[in-house]
This record gives sequence, C-alpha cells and structure tokens, in this order.
Amino acid sequence: MKFGMNVKSKNLLKSLFRQYYRRNMDRIFIPKNFANREFAFQLFDKQGMVRHLGFEKVEELRNFILENVPRHAYYSTAIYILPSASDMDEKGWLGAELVFDIDADHLDTPCKYEHDRWKCLNCGFEGAGPPPDKCPKCGSQNIEKFTWVCEKCIEAAKNELIKLIEEFLIPDLGFKVSDLLIVFSGHRGFHLHIQCEDCLKLTSEERREIVDYVKAIGLKVELLLPKYKRRGEIIGIDLGEKGWRGKIARKIFEKVSLPNESIREIVGDKAYTRLVENSEKIIREMSETTPKWTTLYKSLGSKGLTKLVKTIVDEIKCSVDEKVTIDTHRLIRLPGSLHGKTGLPVITLKGIGELEKFELKPELSPFKGEASIKLTKDIPSNLRLFGENVGGRKGTKLKLSLPTAIYLVARELAEFEEIRK
Ligand SMILES: [Zn+2]
Ligand SMILES: [Zn+2]
Repeated sequence: MKFGMNVKSKNLLKSLFRQYYRRNMDRIFIPKNFANREFAFQLFDKQGMVRHLGFEKVEELRNFILENVPRHAYYSTAIYILPSASDMDEKGWLGAELVFDIDADHLDTPCKYEHDRWKCLNCGFEGAGPPPDKCPKCGSQNIEKFTWVCEKCIEAAKNELIKLIEEFLIPDLGFKVSDLLIVFSGHRGFHLHIQCEDCLKLTSEERREIVDYVKAIGLKVELLLPKYKRRGEIIGIDLGEKGWRGKIARKIFEKVSLPNESIREIVGDKAYTRLVENSEKIIREMSETTPKWTTLYKSLGSKGLTKLVKTIVDEIKCSVDEKVTIDTHRLIRLPGSLHGKTGLPVITLKGIGELEKFELKPELSPFKGEASIKLTKDIPSNLRLFGENVGGRKGTKLKLSLPTAIYLVARELAEFEEIRK
C-alpha cells in the first residue's frame, strides 16, 4: 500500500499515536492463549504487513508497540503451537475463535445517498450513493469512489449486530452472552468474537453453514411454510417456535397487527384489502394453541403469502461478512490499538448493554485539542464529522477539533497544517 500522506502529516500522526500508546498501554487487549497468537502490524514507514510475530510475554508486545508505533495492529483469531512460524503448516493450527464482522459499507443505508459519491474517470458522469460496477453512461469500470461513515451508518451496523446476537446466536445457536467479545472496529463497524471451547475446532465448512443460516442463504421459503389446502383448516406455525419458522411467524403476526402501505406494494391492492378486513380474525387464529393460518392464506393467497415471507426473510437476515467468518486463519484488529485510517481506538464493549448505548461521537477519540488542516481531495460540501463541517474543495483550509482533523488526515483526505493542544 502506498501512503498518500506527506512527510509532515505522517510524522505528526505517528507522534500522536506514540503519545496515545505511551499513556494507554493498559488499554491494549490481551487475548486468551496470548502466547499462541500471531500478531501483525502495519507500520508508518514501511509498506506491507509485518506479520508472523509471536510474543511469549505481554511485556514484549507492549515494547514492540512502543518502539514501532504501528499504524494498524492485528492479532490472529486462531491459536497456534508456533505462531511465529512463517509457514502456515509449521504454525500448527490448534483452533480459532468464531468471528463475525459487520460493516456499514455492506448495509443498505439510505444515508449513503447523502454522503457517498462516485465519478466515472472516463466520461465524467457522476452520481450519489453506492457506486455502480460500471459507468451507466459509457460502460467504463474506471470509477472513482468517495465513501463515508456517518453516525447513522454506525447505528445501522450496531442494530445488525444486536439482531445477530439476540435473534440468532443466543436463541437458535445456543451461544452464551459470557462467551461474546464485542468490539468496535474503529472505523465502519463491529467485530464479534465467540470464544467458547466448542467453537475453536469448527472447520471452515462448518463456519460457512452458520453464515448461511444467519444470512438465509439457500433458504427455501416454500419448504418452511405450512402447505396450502383448498378445504379445511391450515395448521400454522407456533409463534414461540425457534429457528427461522418462528421468526417468520412472529414477523407476519407483527405486520398483520399493524398493516401498512409497504405490504400493499408487496401483495397487491385486493389481497391487501382482504388482509386489513380480516386482520382480527387472522391474529386470533395465529395465536391459538394450535395456530391456524386458514384466513391468512385465504386473504393473501399462496403466492401473496410467499412474496410477503420473502420480504420478511430479507428483513430478518443478517448482513455479516462471510469471508471473515469462514477464514480460520484470520488476522483481526487488536482492541485497544488505534485504527490507522481514523485515529479512533478499537474498543471492547462490555456486553449488549454497552453495545446498545454505543454511538459514533468525538468522545471516542483519546485526543484533545485543535488543528488546522488542508484538504487534499474534494469532500462533498454537506459532509459532517463529530458535529463539524468538513466539506470543501481540494486545497480548502479548515480549523477543526483534533479528533476530526486526525480522522481526515488518517483517511488521507487532508494534511496537517498545525496542531494546537
Ligand atoms: Zn462514463
Ligand atoms: Zn451514513
């Protein structure tokens, strides 16, 4: 990776990181099986990753960080007999935590149309929101992207993670809250580590099955639903049932209890009218000891119900990054270290309570003070970070709080002019 930053900015950023590590070494997370973990770092002055490092003692890791002041710090989710061996086979894999990664850039948040931009470098055509694979005007794939992470993005990633834990990992897969390590990545989202003994030995294929389950990959709605019958009662799904069937039944119940226009768009006018007229009866039948879906089917028809359930599945499923979960040799950000593209710390959150309260705010930054910066790229004029306006044309000079200034310089969108603490 080539650093776009000038020497002055790089040195200032590195000295700020050094100051952080000198004062906050106790924040560095020490994983279980510490001596069996591989550590890896990206340094300010060197391209590529320094990896295959193993430390016998915590003190050695701390000294390495203080001496080298890395821009990024990682450790392995796997434990090895010989973590410092450079050959994967020689390392002697003993197991790996089960890890989930939820990033805002994988989520369909409407705010992307407020802060993300793209421009075709071939013909100049540009637009807002997620970038297309190729230019809709000239077909070129040479597209410049500007992406941003706002408070709403982080809120969406957080809700996705809460859903993963509360809808899937605990009730369906039986994991314990005490085995979960919840981490803010310092940039776009969250990492969840599951450290139970049984998880360690899961193969990549087994991890993929878990991913498929939470992402509803290969889920055939038709096979889950009660069979349609022309005559007689249709026995439905118990609202308390575990797994996907129960989730679907509860969501249908919720939607029928409070029908809205979005359902009309899915099932059509006639079916929607019948659903609203019969809603009380449907709800009553669905909540009986032996639940019935007779009136539900009569109102929506088999096709209408299947369509509705497909939308429901899309609402319930979790957007986790499958590459991270299935990789049993993954390197992942070290909690307590700073994210080199934002200057924000990677933060361990205590339980679901702290996760629920989490928000992207300037107090996350360990830095205080002000700085003047000069933009090195065009930034959309409406863009804000930590309550400050950061938009402007390339070359614009701005006076900002130090957390905001560091974020922009770390993202290589600006250079430092001066820092005042
Ligand atoms: Zn074009
Ligand atoms: Zn956003």
